[in-house]
Amino acid sequence: MSLHRAGLKEVVSLLKKGEVSPVDVVRDLVDAVDERDGDVRAYLHFDKDAILEAAKSVAESAGYRSTLLAGAPIAVKDNICVTGSPTTCASRILENYHSPYTATAVERLIQAGGVVAGKTNLDEFAMGSSTEHSAYHPTSNPWDLERTPGGSSGGSAAAVASDLALAALGSDTGGSIRQPASLCGVVGMKPTWGRVSRYGLVAFASSLDQIGPITKNVEDCALMLDVICGHDPHDATSLTTPVPDLSTDLEKGCENLTIGVPRDFLEVGMDDEVRSNFDTLVDDLKSEGIKVVDVAMPNARYAVACYYIIANAEASSNLARYDGVKYGHRAKEFNGPREMYTRTRDEGFGPEVKRRILLGTYVLSAGYYDAYYLKAQKVRSLIIDDFRKAFEACDLVAMPTAPSPAFRFGEKADPLLMYASDVFTIPVNLAGLPGVSLPSGLADSRLPIGVQLVGRPMAESVVLQGARGVERIVDFKEKAFA
Ligand code: GLN
Repeated sequence: MSLHRAGLKEVVSLLKKGEVSPVDVVRDLVDAVDERDGDVRAYLHFDKDAILEAAKSVAESAGYRSTLLAGAPIAVKDNICVTGSPTTCASRILENYHSPYTATAVERLIQAGGVVAGKTNLDEFAMGSSTEHSAYHPTSNPWDLERTPGGSSGGSAAAVASDLALAALGSDTGGSIRQPASLCGVVGMKPTWGRVSRYGLVAFASSLDQIGPITKNVEDCALMLDVICGHDPHDATSLTTPVPDLSTDLEKGCENLTIGVPRDFLEVGMDDEVRSNFDTLVDDLKSEGIKVVDVAMPNARYAVACYYIIANAEASSNLARYDGVKYGHRAKEFNGPREMYTRTRDEGFGPEVKRRILLGTYVLSAGYYDAYYLKAQKVRSLIIDDFRKAFEACDLVAMPTAPSPAFRFGEKADPLLMYASDVFTIPVNLAGLPGVSLPSGLADSRLPIGVQLVGRPMAESVVLQGARGVERIVDFKEKAFA
Protein backbone atom coordinates (compact mmCIF):
# COMPACT_ATOMS: atom_id res chain seq x y z
CA MET A 1 0.00 0.00 0.00
CA SER A 2 1.41 3.41 -0.96
CA LEU A 3 0.63 5.15 2.29
CA HIS A 4 2.92 8.08 1.45
CA ARG A 5 0.67 9.02 -1.45
CA ALA A 6 -2.32 9.56 0.82
CA GLY A 7 -3.22 12.75 2.67
CA LEU A 8 -2.33 13.26 6.33
CA LYS A 9 -5.89 12.95 7.59
CA GLU A 10 -6.43 9.75 5.60
CA VAL A 11 -3.33 8.16 7.10
CA VAL A 12 -4.25 9.37 10.59
CA SER A 13 -7.65 7.74 10.26
CA LEU A 14 -6.03 4.39 9.29
CA LEU A 15 -3.67 4.73 12.25
CA LYS A 16 -6.52 5.52 14.62
CA LYS A 17 -8.41 2.44 13.48
CA GLY A 18 -5.28 0.35 13.96
CA GLU A 19 -5.35 -0.74 10.30
CA VAL A 20 -1.74 0.35 9.95
CA SER A 21 0.92 1.03 12.58
CA PRO A 22 3.21 4.08 12.86
CA VAL A 23 6.08 1.78 11.87
CA ASP A 24 4.29 0.73 8.64
CA VAL A 25 3.74 4.36 7.73
CA VAL A 26 7.34 5.35 8.41
CA ARG A 27 8.78 2.31 6.57
CA ASP A 28 6.72 3.18 3.52
CA LEU A 29 7.88 6.80 3.71
CA VAL A 30 11.54 5.81 4.12
CA ASP A 31 11.30 3.65 0.97
CA ALA A 32 9.73 6.51 -0.97
CA VAL A 33 12.44 8.95 0.18
CA ASP A 34 15.13 6.41 -0.76
CA GLU A 35 13.65 6.04 -4.20
CA ARG A 36 12.86 9.61 -5.11
CA ASP A 37 14.64 12.16 -2.95
CA GLY A 38 17.78 11.73 -5.02
CA ASP A 39 15.93 13.67 -7.77
CA VAL A 40 13.97 16.16 -5.69
CA ARG A 41 16.51 16.70 -2.86
CA ALA A 42 13.87 18.02 -0.49
CA TYR A 43 15.62 16.86 2.68
CA LEU A 44 18.83 18.10 4.28
CA HIS A 45 18.74 15.44 7.02
CA PHE A 46 16.74 12.25 6.96
CA ASP A 47 17.93 9.83 9.61
CA LYS A 48 16.00 6.62 8.80
CA ASP A 49 17.00 4.81 11.97
CA ALA A 50 16.03 7.69 14.22
CA ILE A 51 12.66 8.08 12.48
CA LEU A 52 11.94 4.36 12.74
CA GLU A 53 12.91 4.41 16.42
CA ALA A 54 10.58 7.36 17.04
CA ALA A 55 7.73 5.54 15.25
CA LYS A 56 8.36 2.42 17.33
CA SER A 57 8.25 4.35 20.55
CA VAL A 58 4.94 6.01 19.57
CA ALA A 59 3.54 2.59 18.65
CA GLU A 60 4.46 1.32 22.11
CA SER A 61 2.97 4.29 23.95
CA ALA A 62 -0.40 3.93 25.58
CA GLY A 63 -3.30 5.73 23.94
CA TYR A 64 -1.45 6.95 20.84
CA ARG A 65 -4.44 6.02 18.67
CA SER A 66 -6.53 8.68 20.34
CA THR A 67 -4.01 11.51 19.70
CA LEU A 68 -4.54 13.97 16.83
CA LEU A 69 -1.66 12.63 14.72
CA ALA A 70 -1.62 9.03 15.99
CA GLY A 71 1.96 8.34 14.89
CA ALA A 72 1.98 10.13 11.53
CA PRO A 73 5.40 11.43 10.36
CA ILE A 74 5.76 15.18 9.69
CA ALA A 75 8.74 16.89 8.01
CA VAL A 76 10.25 20.02 9.58
CA LYS A 77 12.05 22.92 7.89
CA ASP A 78 15.67 23.03 8.97
CA ASN A 79 15.42 26.42 10.67
CA ILE A 80 13.17 24.92 13.36
CA CYS A 81 14.97 23.28 16.29
CA VAL A 82 14.57 19.62 17.19
CA THR A 83 16.67 18.23 20.06
CA GLY A 84 19.47 15.98 18.97
CA SER A 85 19.11 16.69 15.26
CA PRO A 86 21.12 19.19 13.25
CA THR A 87 19.56 22.63 12.67
CA THR A 88 21.66 24.18 9.92
CA CYS A 89 19.31 26.80 8.46
CA ALA A 90 20.99 25.62 5.21
CA SER A 91 24.00 27.72 6.26
CA ARG A 92 27.68 26.79 6.60
CA ILE A 93 27.82 28.83 9.77
CA LEU A 94 25.56 26.30 11.53
CA GLU A 95 26.95 23.24 9.75
CA ASN A 96 27.74 21.33 12.93
CA TYR A 97 25.08 22.83 15.17
CA HIS A 98 22.81 20.42 17.03
CA SER A 99 19.97 22.06 18.84
CA PRO A 100 19.88 21.53 22.62
CA TYR A 101 16.11 22.05 22.69
CA THR A 102 12.96 21.50 20.62
CA ALA A 103 10.76 24.25 19.17
CA THR A 104 7.31 24.50 20.73
CA ALA A 105 5.56 23.86 17.38
CA VAL A 106 7.50 20.59 17.04
CA GLU A 107 6.95 19.74 20.70
CA ARG A 108 3.22 20.09 20.03
CA LEU A 109 3.47 17.75 17.04
CA ILE A 110 5.22 15.19 19.23
CA GLN A 111 2.68 15.62 22.05
CA ALA A 112 -0.05 15.00 19.47
CA GLY A 113 1.55 11.66 18.55
CA GLY A 114 3.50 12.93 15.54
CA VAL A 115 6.93 11.67 14.46
CA VAL A 116 9.54 14.14 13.14
CA ALA A 117 10.36 12.88 9.65
CA GLY A 118 13.56 14.70 8.78
CA LYS A 119 14.62 18.28 8.21
CA THR A 120 13.88 19.97 4.89
CA ASN A 121 15.97 22.28 2.74
CA LEU A 122 15.58 26.07 2.57
CA ASP A 123 17.27 29.21 1.37
CA GLU A 124 20.04 30.06 3.83
CA PHE A 125 18.41 31.50 6.97
CA ALA A 126 15.10 31.52 5.05
CA MET A 127 16.33 34.39 2.86
CA GLY A 128 15.14 33.74 -0.67
CA SER A 129 12.30 32.57 -2.89
CA SER A 130 13.80 29.59 -4.72
CA THR A 131 15.83 27.40 -2.31
CA GLU A 132 18.82 28.13 -4.60
CA HIS A 133 20.46 30.00 -1.72
CA SER A 134 20.85 26.82 0.35
CA ALA A 135 24.55 26.41 1.16
CA TYR A 136 24.19 22.63 0.62
CA HIS A 137 22.20 21.96 -2.55
CA PRO A 138 19.19 23.29 -4.42
CA THR A 139 15.84 21.48 -4.28
CA SER A 140 13.92 20.71 -7.48
CA ASN A 141 10.29 21.32 -8.21
CA PRO A 142 8.61 17.88 -8.46
CA TRP A 143 6.49 19.14 -11.38
CA ASP A 144 9.62 19.92 -13.43
CA LEU A 145 13.01 19.05 -12.00
CA GLU A 146 14.64 21.85 -14.04
CA ARG A 147 12.70 24.42 -12.04
CA THR A 148 12.84 25.68 -8.48
CA PRO A 149 10.19 24.76 -5.93
CA GLY A 150 10.09 28.38 -4.72
CA GLY A 151 11.29 29.29 -1.28
CA SER A 152 12.37 29.65 1.25
CA SER A 153 10.46 26.57 2.50
CA GLY A 154 11.15 24.90 -0.86
CA GLY A 155 12.23 21.62 0.74
CA SER A 156 8.99 21.35 2.72
CA ALA A 157 6.79 22.21 -0.27
CA ALA A 158 8.66 19.87 -2.63
CA ALA A 159 8.55 17.04 -0.08
CA VAL A 160 4.78 17.34 0.30
CA ALA A 161 4.20 17.77 -3.45
CA SER A 162 6.26 14.68 -4.31
CA ASP A 163 4.63 12.57 -1.58
CA LEU A 164 7.89 12.45 0.37
CA ALA A 165 6.10 13.93 3.40
CA LEU A 166 2.48 13.66 4.47
CA ALA A 167 2.73 17.23 5.73
CA ALA A 168 5.50 19.62 6.73
CA LEU A 169 6.26 22.68 8.81
CA GLY A 170 7.61 25.76 7.11
CA SER A 171 8.27 29.34 8.16
CA ASP A 172 6.99 32.48 6.48
CA THR A 173 8.53 35.93 6.86
CA GLY A 174 7.49 37.39 3.51
CA GLY A 175 5.87 34.46 1.72
CA SER A 176 8.14 31.49 2.40
CA ILE A 177 5.29 29.07 3.08
CA ARG A 178 2.72 30.36 0.61
CA GLN A 179 4.94 31.03 -2.43
CA PRO A 180 6.58 27.56 -2.53
CA ALA A 181 3.18 25.97 -1.81
CA SER A 182 1.85 27.82 -4.85
CA LEU A 183 4.77 26.83 -7.10
CA CYS A 184 4.50 23.18 -6.02
CA GLY A 185 0.70 22.85 -6.25
CA VAL A 186 0.07 22.25 -2.54
CA VAL A 187 -1.58 24.10 0.37
CA GLY A 188 0.46 26.39 2.65
CA MET A 189 -0.72 28.66 5.42
CA LYS A 190 0.82 31.44 7.46
CA PRO A 191 -1.25 31.95 10.60
CA THR A 192 -1.75 35.31 12.33
CA TRP A 193 1.55 36.56 13.77
CA GLY A 194 1.63 35.18 17.33
CA ARG A 195 -0.74 32.25 16.75
CA VAL A 196 2.07 29.71 16.60
CA SER A 197 4.96 30.02 19.03
CA ARG A 198 8.26 31.15 17.52
CA TYR A 199 10.22 29.51 20.36
CA GLY A 200 12.81 27.37 18.61
CA LEU A 201 12.36 28.98 15.19
CA VAL A 202 15.71 30.51 14.22
CA ALA A 203 14.99 34.23 13.99
CA PHE A 204 15.22 36.02 10.63
CA ALA A 205 12.92 39.07 11.06
CA SER A 206 11.11 38.60 14.34
CA SER A 207 8.22 41.00 13.70
CA LEU A 208 7.35 39.05 10.53
CA ASP A 209 8.40 35.41 11.13
CA GLN A 210 5.69 32.81 11.63
CA ILE A 211 5.63 29.00 11.53
CA GLY A 212 2.88 27.27 9.56
CA PRO A 213 1.96 24.04 7.74
CA ILE A 214 2.39 22.86 4.15
CA THR A 215 -0.06 20.08 3.29
CA LYS A 216 -1.72 18.22 0.41
CA ASN A 217 -5.19 19.67 1.06
CA VAL A 218 -7.09 22.17 3.21
CA GLU A 219 -8.39 19.56 5.63
CA ASP A 220 -4.83 18.50 6.49
CA CYS A 221 -3.86 22.15 6.90
CA ALA A 222 -6.62 22.63 9.50
CA LEU A 223 -5.51 19.49 11.33
CA MET A 224 -1.90 20.69 11.49
CA LEU A 225 -3.01 24.09 12.79
CA ASP A 226 -5.21 22.43 15.42
CA VAL A 227 -2.01 20.81 16.67
CA ILE A 228 0.48 23.71 16.53
CA CYS A 229 -1.54 26.87 17.32
CA GLY A 230 -1.92 28.25 20.82
CA HIS A 231 -0.27 30.24 23.57
CA ASP A 232 3.27 29.42 24.67
CA PRO A 233 4.82 30.96 27.78
CA HIS A 234 8.27 30.55 26.12
CA ASP A 235 7.36 33.15 23.48
CA ALA A 236 6.36 36.51 24.94
CA THR A 237 4.73 37.52 21.66
CA SER A 238 2.54 34.43 21.45
CA LEU A 239 -1.17 35.27 21.57
CA THR A 240 -3.27 34.29 24.54
CA THR A 241 -6.58 34.41 22.63
CA PRO A 242 -8.05 30.89 22.57
CA VAL A 243 -7.93 29.08 19.21
CA PRO A 244 -11.19 27.50 18.06
CA ASP A 245 -11.13 23.96 16.69
CA LEU A 246 -10.27 24.67 13.07
CA SER A 247 -11.31 21.32 11.59
CA THR A 248 -14.88 21.44 12.86
CA ASP A 249 -16.55 24.06 10.65
CA LEU A 250 -14.38 23.57 7.61
CA GLU A 251 -17.17 22.29 5.39
CA LYS A 252 -19.11 25.55 5.79
CA GLY A 253 -17.05 26.62 2.79
CA CYS A 254 -17.29 30.14 1.40
CA GLU A 255 -21.02 30.41 0.60
CA ASN A 256 -21.69 33.05 3.24
CA LEU A 257 -18.42 34.91 2.89
CA THR A 258 -17.76 38.08 0.92
CA ILE A 259 -14.54 37.97 -1.08
CA GLY A 260 -12.66 41.22 -1.74
CA VAL A 261 -10.46 41.66 -4.81
CA PRO A 262 -7.84 44.46 -4.62
CA ARG A 263 -8.07 45.45 -8.31
CA ASP A 264 -5.80 48.50 -7.92
CA PHE A 265 -3.01 46.40 -6.38
CA LEU A 266 -3.36 43.70 -9.03
CA GLU A 267 -2.22 46.25 -11.63
CA VAL A 268 1.37 45.43 -10.58
CA GLY A 269 3.09 43.00 -12.92
CA MET A 270 2.17 39.34 -13.17
CA ASP A 271 2.18 36.70 -15.91
CA ASP A 272 -0.82 36.76 -18.23
CA GLU A 273 -1.59 33.16 -17.34
CA VAL A 274 -1.65 33.95 -13.64
CA ARG A 275 -3.97 36.90 -14.26
CA SER A 276 -6.38 34.92 -16.43
CA ASN A 277 -6.37 31.99 -13.99
CA PHE A 278 -7.27 34.39 -11.17
CA ASP A 279 -9.99 36.11 -13.21
CA THR A 280 -11.49 32.71 -14.10
CA LEU A 281 -11.56 31.73 -10.43
CA VAL A 282 -13.33 34.99 -9.53
CA ASP A 283 -15.93 34.29 -12.26
CA ASP A 284 -16.37 30.74 -10.96
CA LEU A 285 -16.90 32.05 -7.43
CA LYS A 286 -19.52 34.49 -8.69
CA SER A 287 -21.34 31.82 -10.64
CA GLU A 288 -21.46 29.73 -7.45
CA GLY A 289 -23.39 32.65 -5.91
CA ILE A 290 -20.48 33.90 -3.78
CA LYS A 291 -20.40 37.64 -3.27
CA VAL A 292 -17.27 39.26 -4.71
CA VAL A 293 -16.50 42.98 -4.23
CA ASP A 294 -13.65 45.26 -5.26
CA VAL A 295 -11.55 46.62 -2.41
CA ALA A 296 -8.81 49.26 -2.53
CA MET A 297 -5.26 48.60 -1.31
CA PRO A 298 -3.46 51.75 -2.51
CA ASN A 299 -0.34 51.22 -0.39
CA ALA A 300 0.24 47.51 -0.97
CA ARG A 301 2.44 48.22 -4.01
CA TYR A 302 5.07 49.67 -1.65
CA ALA A 303 5.19 46.53 0.44
CA VAL A 304 8.25 44.92 -1.20
CA ALA A 305 10.37 48.06 -0.75
CA CYS A 306 9.13 48.46 2.81
CA TYR A 307 9.76 44.79 3.63
CA TYR A 308 13.37 44.81 2.40
CA ILE A 309 14.13 47.64 4.81
CA ILE A 310 12.34 46.22 7.85
CA ALA A 311 13.23 42.54 7.32
CA ASN A 312 16.89 43.29 6.61
CA ALA A 313 17.15 45.66 9.58
CA GLU A 314 15.83 42.94 11.86
CA ALA A 315 17.99 40.28 10.20
CA SER A 316 21.16 42.32 10.65
CA SER A 317 20.47 42.44 14.36
CA ASN A 318 19.27 38.82 14.72
CA LEU A 319 22.26 37.42 12.82
CA ALA A 320 24.77 39.32 14.96
CA ARG A 321 24.78 36.31 17.29
CA TYR A 322 26.70 34.17 14.77
CA ASP A 323 30.12 35.44 15.74
CA GLY A 324 32.10 32.24 16.22
CA VAL A 325 31.83 32.51 20.00
CA LYS A 326 28.54 30.88 20.91
CA TYR A 327 27.26 29.09 17.81
CA GLY A 328 28.50 26.98 14.96
CA HIS A 329 31.47 27.67 12.75
CA ARG A 330 34.58 29.50 13.92
CA ALA A 331 37.45 30.47 11.59
CA LYS A 332 40.58 28.40 12.14
CA GLU A 333 43.16 31.14 11.74
CA PHE A 334 42.90 34.67 13.05
CA ASN A 335 44.78 37.39 14.85
CA GLY A 336 42.73 38.69 17.73
CA PRO A 337 38.96 38.74 18.30
CA ARG A 338 38.08 41.24 15.58
CA GLU A 339 39.63 39.10 12.89
CA MET A 340 37.99 36.02 14.42
CA TYR A 341 34.55 37.64 14.00
CA THR A 342 35.13 38.89 10.49
CA ARG A 343 36.71 35.68 9.18
CA THR A 344 34.09 33.51 10.82
CA ARG A 345 31.25 35.51 9.31
CA ASP A 346 32.95 35.83 5.94
CA GLU A 347 33.46 32.05 5.73
CA GLY A 348 30.14 31.10 7.29
CA PHE A 349 27.56 33.27 5.50
CA GLY A 350 26.62 33.01 1.82
CA PRO A 351 26.31 36.02 -0.52
CA GLU A 352 22.57 36.62 -0.08
CA VAL A 353 22.81 36.62 3.71
CA LYS A 354 25.76 39.02 3.54
CA ARG A 355 23.78 41.31 1.24
CA ARG A 356 20.89 41.39 3.72
CA ILE A 357 23.16 42.09 6.71
CA LEU A 358 24.87 44.93 4.86
CA LEU A 359 21.57 46.47 3.75
CA GLY A 360 20.04 46.06 7.20
CA THR A 361 23.01 47.61 8.95
CA TYR A 362 22.94 50.50 6.49
CA VAL A 363 19.26 51.38 7.01
CA LEU A 364 19.73 51.36 10.77
CA SER A 365 22.87 53.50 10.83
CA ALA A 366 22.94 57.05 12.16
CA GLY A 367 21.75 59.51 9.54
CA TYR A 368 19.84 56.89 7.54
CA TYR A 369 17.51 55.54 10.18
CA ASP A 370 14.87 58.28 9.67
CA ALA A 371 15.11 58.21 5.90
CA TYR A 372 14.73 54.43 5.58
CA TYR A 373 13.75 52.46 8.67
CA LEU A 374 11.37 55.00 10.17
CA LYS A 375 9.75 55.71 6.81
CA ALA A 376 9.31 51.99 6.18
CA GLN A 377 7.58 51.61 9.55
CA LYS A 378 5.15 54.37 8.52
CA VAL A 379 4.43 52.65 5.21
CA ARG A 380 3.85 49.43 7.15
CA SER A 381 1.14 51.23 9.16
CA LEU A 382 -0.49 52.43 5.93
CA ILE A 383 -0.58 48.86 4.60
CA ILE A 384 -2.12 47.61 7.85
CA ASP A 385 -4.74 50.32 7.42
CA ASP A 386 -5.44 49.27 3.82
CA PHE A 387 -6.31 45.78 5.05
CA ARG A 388 -8.38 47.14 7.95
CA LYS A 389 -10.48 49.19 5.54
CA ALA A 390 -10.80 46.31 3.08
CA PHE A 391 -12.17 44.09 5.84
CA GLU A 392 -14.99 46.58 6.41
CA ALA A 393 -16.33 45.43 3.04
CA CYS A 394 -15.30 41.76 2.88
CA ASP A 395 -14.34 38.70 4.95
CA LEU A 396 -11.42 37.55 2.84
CA VAL A 397 -9.09 39.33 0.45
CA ALA A 398 -8.21 37.16 -2.57
CA MET A 399 -5.24 37.58 -4.91
CA PRO A 400 -2.75 35.41 -6.75
CA THR A 401 -0.08 33.97 -4.45
CA ALA A 402 2.84 34.50 -6.81
CA PRO A 403 3.20 36.52 -10.02
CA SER A 404 4.41 33.51 -12.04
CA PRO A 405 4.46 29.70 -11.93
CA ALA A 406 7.71 27.90 -11.02
CA PHE A 407 10.77 29.49 -12.67
CA ARG A 408 13.98 27.84 -13.88
CA PHE A 409 17.18 27.60 -11.85
CA GLY A 410 19.22 30.75 -12.36
CA GLU A 411 16.34 32.59 -14.01
CA LYS A 412 16.11 35.16 -11.22
CA ALA A 413 19.82 35.75 -10.60
CA ASP A 414 19.11 39.47 -10.28
CA PRO A 415 18.10 39.89 -6.61
CA LEU A 416 15.43 42.46 -7.46
CA LEU A 417 13.70 39.98 -9.78
CA MET A 418 13.79 37.38 -7.02
CA TYR A 419 12.44 39.86 -4.45
CA ALA A 420 9.47 40.65 -6.71
CA SER A 421 8.31 37.00 -6.43
CA ASP A 422 6.80 37.92 -3.07
CA VAL A 423 4.87 40.97 -4.19
CA PHE A 424 1.51 39.47 -3.15
CA THR A 425 2.60 37.64 -0.02
CA ILE A 426 4.70 40.31 1.69
CA PRO A 427 1.83 42.75 2.52
CA VAL A 428 0.22 39.97 4.56
CA ASN A 429 3.31 39.55 6.77
CA LEU A 430 3.66 43.31 7.22
CA ALA A 431 0.06 43.35 8.51
CA GLY A 432 0.52 40.16 10.59
CA LEU A 433 -2.58 38.54 9.04
CA PRO A 434 -3.46 34.89 8.38
CA GLY A 435 -3.07 33.89 4.72
CA VAL A 436 -3.34 30.62 2.87
CA SER A 437 -2.25 29.58 -0.61
CA LEU A 438 -3.96 26.74 -2.43
CA PRO A 439 -3.86 25.49 -6.01
CA SER A 440 -6.15 27.35 -8.42
CA GLY A 441 -5.25 25.62 -11.68
CA LEU A 442 -2.54 24.76 -14.15
CA ALA A 443 -0.63 26.94 -16.60
CA ASP A 444 -0.29 25.84 -20.26
CA SER A 445 3.11 24.49 -19.26
CA ARG A 446 1.20 22.26 -16.82
CA LEU A 447 2.80 23.97 -13.85
CA PRO A 448 0.59 24.78 -10.88
CA ILE A 449 -0.77 28.26 -10.14
CA GLY A 450 -1.96 29.26 -6.66
CA VAL A 451 -4.47 31.64 -5.15
CA GLN A 452 -4.10 33.36 -1.79
CA LEU A 453 -6.87 34.12 0.70
CA VAL A 454 -6.17 36.56 3.53
CA GLY A 455 -8.31 37.05 6.63
CA ARG A 456 -8.72 39.38 9.58
CA PRO A 457 -6.39 38.95 12.56
CA MET A 458 -7.02 35.58 14.23
CA ALA A 459 -9.65 34.59 11.65
CA GLU A 460 -7.87 31.34 10.74
CA SER A 461 -11.21 29.51 10.79
CA VAL A 462 -12.69 31.88 8.18
CA VAL A 463 -9.57 31.62 6.02
CA LEU A 464 -9.72 27.84 6.11
CA GLN A 465 -13.45 27.69 5.39
CA GLY A 466 -12.90 29.99 2.41
CA ALA A 467 -10.00 27.82 1.27
CA ARG A 468 -12.08 24.65 1.56
CA GLY A 469 -14.80 26.31 -0.52
CA VAL A 470 -12.31 27.35 -3.20
CA GLU A 471 -10.72 23.90 -3.13
CA ARG A 472 -14.07 22.32 -3.95
CA ILE A 473 -14.67 24.77 -6.78
CA VAL A 474 -11.21 24.37 -8.31
CA ASP A 475 -11.02 20.61 -7.95
CA PHE A 476 -7.32 20.79 -8.73
CA LYS A 477 -6.44 17.11 -8.54
CA GLU A 478 -9.11 16.19 -11.09
CA LYS A 479 -7.70 18.73 -13.52
CA ALA A 480 -4.03 18.11 -12.85
CA PHE A 481 -4.14 14.38 -13.31
CA ALA A 482 -6.95 14.20 -15.90
N1 GLN B 1 11.47 35.64 -0.14
C1 GLN B 1 11.39 36.52 0.98
C2 GLN B 1 12.80 36.89 1.41
O1 GLN B 1 13.68 36.51 0.75
C3 GLN B 1 10.63 35.89 2.08
C4 GLN B 1 11.38 34.86 2.81
C5 GLN B 1 10.61 34.24 3.95
O2 GLN B 1 9.38 34.36 4.02
N2 GLN B 1 11.33 33.61 4.85
O3 GLN B 1 13.04 37.54 2.37
